[in-house]
Order: sequence, then C-alpha cells, then structure tokens
Amino acid sequence: MEQQVIELDGAIGGGQVLRSALSLSMVTGRAFRIKHIRAKRSRPGLLRQHLTAVLAAAEVCGAKTCGATLGSQSLSFEPGVIRGGDYQFDIGTAGSCTLVLQTLLPALLQAPQASRVRISGGTHNPLAPPTDFLSRSWLPLLRRMGGNVELELLRHGFVPAGGGEFEASVQPSTLSRLDLCERGATVSQQALALAAGLAPTVARRELDQVARRLRMAPDALHHITLDPARGPGNVLLLEYVFEHVTEVFSAFGQVSLRSERVADAAINQAADWLRSGAAVAEHLADQLLLPMALAGGGSFTTPRMTEHLHSNIAVIEQFLPIRIECREEGAECMRVELSAR
Ligand code: ATP
Repeated sequence: MEQQVIELDGAIGGGQVLRSALSLSMVTGRAFRIKHIRAKRSRPGLLRQHLTAVLAAAEVCGAKTCGATLGSQSLSFEPGVIRGGDYQFDIGTAGSCTLVLQTLLPALLQAPQASRVRISGGTHNPLAPPTDFLSRSWLPLLRRMGGNVELELLRHGFVPAGGGEFEASVQPSTLSRLDLCERGATVSQQALALAAGLAPTVARRELDQVARRLRMAPDALHHITLDPARGPGNVLLLEYVFEHVTEVFSAFGQVSLRSERVADAAINQAADWLRSGAAVAEHLADQLLLPMALAGGGSFTTPRMTEHLHSNIAVIEQFLPIRIECREEGAECMRVELSAR
C-alpha cells in the first residue's frame, strides 16, 4: 500500500526542520512536502547551505525533488534507494559544512557500502556547530551509540570567506540506545582560541578573560594562529570533559565586538550549563534527538526547552513511531525520554 506524503510547515522553526525531514525521509523511505521553509527568518527560503543539503540528500538516495532552487520556500522530496560511496559537495559560500554532513549521516550509516564525504564551505560558523563541536562532542556520542564515523578537518573556513573543507568516513552501522542523564565526574577543561588574519592580541585577550573568569590554569589555555589566507576569522572554544559527556561552547569574534565580550559569550553559555546540573547543553540536546530517535529510544537531561528542540520533536514524531516526553526536573533541568510508540 502506498504511504501518504508527509506534510510539514517549515514556519515552526528554521533550517533544522528541513534538514531533519531530509534525514528522516531518506532513512524511512517516506516522501514529504514542506512549505513556508524558514518563513520567519530575515532571508526566508533555501539559502546555499540548505539547498546543498537538499541536493546532497537527493544524490545520496536518488530522490526526485521539486522546488530545489535558491530562495524556494517549498519543496517536495521523494526518496529512492540509499547508496554509499565517494561524495563531494561544495556549498559555494561560507554556509555551514557541519549542518550538511549531519543531514546525510543517518542515511550513510544505513547504506550498504562505506562512504567518504568531502564538504567545502564554512567549517566554523556562528549559529551552527563548529567542526570541533562535532569531533569532540557530538560524534563521540554517536560512536558510543554504534555509529562508525570519523571526521578530518582539512582546512578551516570562516564567514565570510568560506573555503574550508572536511572529510567524513562512514562505515555502515546500527545505532543503539543511549541514556545520558548524568555528566559523571569532571575529567578536564580547556580553552582554544583560533584566529586567522587577525592581530595576535585578539586570541590573547580572549584567553586572559577565560583565565580571569573561569580560573583556568595556563596550561589549559591554547591558541592557534591559522594561515592569514583563511581569514579573517576568530572563534573561542571552551571544552569541558566529563566522564559521560564532553561539551564544547563557542563564540565568534566580530568587528566592533571587544575580545573580552567574545570570551564572555562562550563563558556565559558554559556557566549556564554547569549551574543547571543537566548532562547535555542546549545545542547538543537538539542534535542528539534524531540519532536517539533512529536508535528507537534514549534519554538525556538538558537545562530547558528550546525552539530547536521543540520543532525537531514535531518533525521526528511525524516520521517515526517514537514518543518523546519532556519532564521538568527542578527549575533548570528537563528530562527528555524517547521510547517506541
Ligand atoms: P536558520 O535558523 O537561519 O534557518 P540554519 O539552517 O542555519 O538557520 P537552524 O535551524 O537554526 O539552522 O539550526 C542550527 C543548528 O546548529 C541547531 O542544531 C543548533 O543547535 C546548532 N548550533 C547553533 N549554534 C551552535 C553552537 N554554538 N554549538 C553547537 N551547535 C550549534
């Protein structure tokens, strides 16, 4: 019997609504139609990053698409058969490579063959997971669930220049349940300031502020000066390693934003999470949801409900027979439980 096409309203969130729908459509074989893509964003519709995700998804599973053009606010996607192999995708702008990769991984894990995927564009973008977040935080959890994925950063790419690139290797594998409600014991913490084509004082002032506010020891403060041709670009990354989870917080340098304020932005995110006692911070929460749903169950604690978490739950529940329950546990902690419906 032919399954009904899933209808989605993209206005419930941003690009993630579309990307999750693409991932889920590929792995379930269910076709979908989406309207009002990113309707509430200042530049609505498909930007290069979103369009690359659509075209890449279509290539990986031989999908038929309608509306896959720049600026389009509606799309229909009819998936075919997933194929592993060697792929190369160029976003063509500084759009986020990590978001495109995350769209494809669920399907590539289910492919009958191994894959190698090269993606070029931005590797360190504001409002997206920096490559370090994927390699230090998200991918280790995916691997703990059984997902066999390695990631190698080949070149940094910042906004606006782009030109970054990474390569992911994916072995077919099955995801299994993960429960992540406790961080466990503290292992280590460190700060890394990356800068390309900027004065050396930028990274130094960010790290001084980290040392001052977080009392991090000098040997936990690192800075890397990248080839100026990769710039201008600057990101401060704070990494917290606990027994059961590693979190990475980031903030980006901007013209006319003092280096101390850049550091404060990352420090404040980390402080919010540390205070909450939750295992998983805001961004990791919405990015763990899809792999856990594909595994058929899991749980985690996180400080609060966010727009991304909320809209991602809505999309996942349309595609999969999964129930996702969110229960507040005190003022700054929420438990999210995924179970088979
Ligand atoms: P838009 O909101 O303009 O449609 P988009 O397509 O780039 O943007 P979103 O729907 O906002 O994407 O999704 C962005 C994703 O990036 C979310 O999963 C969010 O948690 C993640 N993210 C944003 N900032 C960070 C960060 N600093 N660290 C890790 N992940 C991040």
